[in-house]
Amino acid sequence: MKTYKLIPFDESKQNEVNNSDVIIAEDVKSSSSNNVYKVTIYKDKISCTCPAGGKKTFCKHMLNTINKNVDLIKNNNISFYEQLQSLIELKQNHKGREEQFKKLSADLIFVNSSIAKTAHDNQIEFEKDKIKQNVLYENIISIVINQAKN
Ligand SMILES: [Zn+2]
Repeated sequence: MKTYKLIPFDESKQNEVNNSDVIIAEDVKSSSSNNVYKVTIYKDKISCTCPAGGKKTFCKHMLNTINKNVDLIKNNNISFYEQLQSLIELKQNHKGREEQFKKLSADLIFVNSSIAKTAHDNQIEFEKDKIKQNVLYENIISIVINQAKN
């Protein structure tokens, strides 16, 4: 039986954003599981409730939401938009600039207790989905093997 550790988060940074700061909030379907993640773009922060987002890792869900809403983000806060562009650029090529990438991720990606908890639950669902898929796959293999025998 696997045990799961809760993702640590910084209590002192919990109130960095409030609901009036939300510019975009959207639900995105996971491409590899049945999970649905919430991507939120605030005035000068971004968050995602996927397992990676819960660990302040810049994920493809955030990237997709940014790319779909370029004008909106730009018009709202040009300097935040420019920081996001640097983050995207660093994600694509951060060889030799790992520290810079980590620091910018920590500055721009928002995680509070609720996001950390949801990301943690999503991680568990993701693992369950993977197990289900493996069982399904093994069943198909054994059917194919049995058919070949007969
Ligand atoms: Zn994500």
